[in-house]
Amino acid sequence: MVIRHKTHNVQVGSINVGSSYPVVVQSMTNTDTEDAIATAIQIADLARAGSEVVRVTVNTIEAGRKIKEIKQRLGDMGINVPIVGDFHFNGHKILAEVPDCAKYLDKYRINPGNVGKGSKRDEQFASMINMAREYDKPVRIGVNWGSLDQDLLAQMLDNNARLQSPLSLEVVMQNALIESALQSAEKAIELGLPENKILLSCKVSQVQDLISVYRQLASKCKFPLHLGLTEAGIGTKGIVASTAALSILLQEGIGDTIRISLTPKPGESRTQEVIVAQEILQSMGLRSFVPVVTSCPGCGRTSSDYFQKLADKIQNYLREQMPIWRETYPGVETMKVAVMGCVVNGPGESKLANIGISLPGKDESPVAPVYIDGQKDVTLKGERIAEEFQVLVENYVKT
Ligand code: SF4
Repeated sequence: MVIRHKTHNVQVGSINVGSSYPVVVQSMTNTDTEDAIATAIQIADLARAGSEVVRVTVNTIEAGRKIKEIKQRLGDMGINVPIVGDFHFNGHKILAEVPDCAKYLDKYRINPGNVGKGSKRDEQFASMINMAREYDKPVRIGVNWGSLDQDLLAQMLDNNARLQSPLSLEVVMQNALIESALQSAEKAIELGLPENKILLSCKVSQVQDLISVYRQLASKCKFPLHLGLTEAGIGTKGIVASTAALSILLQEGIGDTIRISLTPKPGESRTQEVIVAQEILQSMGLRSFVPVVTSCPGCGRTSSDYFQKLADKIQNYLREQMPIWRETYPGVETMKVAVMGCVVNGPGESKLANIGISLPGKDESPVAPVYIDGQKDVTLKGERIAEEFQVLVENYVKT
């Protein structure tokens, strides 16, 4: 059983983030925010896939001006997902010059390493925090390994060099990340932002560093933590690295919202990162998003790849139905479906699922018994087994 690290609750639009609430799935667009139509379409896709918060880059005044239009377009599509503005370098200017941007965003992400340099840093940070206060918005103080506050790092390296037994560069950098986040949160509170308007993140790109940084961060504060391995990578590497890091921390109760930063393969949908985030939480038993399909890997007993195609088809079908089913059939996401390749484990797994099918193996008679709630219900045969099984699944959901 996972005992969550206790954190404040922060409301982001209609979503609550904190240890009293389920871990929230979020994602980020990769469209040009100045293109309001493309950005609204991608946000809608991410939200329909299950992203509960979506971040967009706000890098220009024009991008800031489009936030209101993006929200209106989403409203027209019936999408009410909270939108977070990601600010670097010029966020103070955009928020000041475009009041609608400050007003229509549901949260501001501020990177303390990219707020400004020298004497301007405090002034520009204060300007953004004041806008958050004025518009009653939460902020995420999001520190990143790749854009660490260089003045703070230099000072901490100097202090380290004076120690009798200096710490390694890696440890000093980890400490600087954590210090940057905590100091910035303190400054925001001094400027009048309530602590229940602040979330923190300290993202790094290596698994062991992320685990170490978040364990320390959690031990030092009660701010909700946004968890993610930054620049996790492409394909399998990104998925495995993110899963390895996040699973350990989530098991320790650390992390109130997660984002999987995958580099999409050419042509791959951005929604893949949402599916991976959901799968991590669902595999760990922390949340349920979609009925689970249990399928065997297949082996020499399998007569063809037919059952793999059927398992894939059923899984995609269930995921596609979820936006509607979630509303209409509460609890459907906890359902279990089994699609198995032969009689060795097929009937056993089918009985353990809500509904399961065991396809015929190589030397078995060409019939596919279907079990519903542990009892044999019907035996399918012929060319239309896939279609008939899909109808049985659909009927099961509806009854
Ligand atoms: Fe092989 Fe049958 Fe086991 Fe699937 S259920 S892996 S086909 S033995």
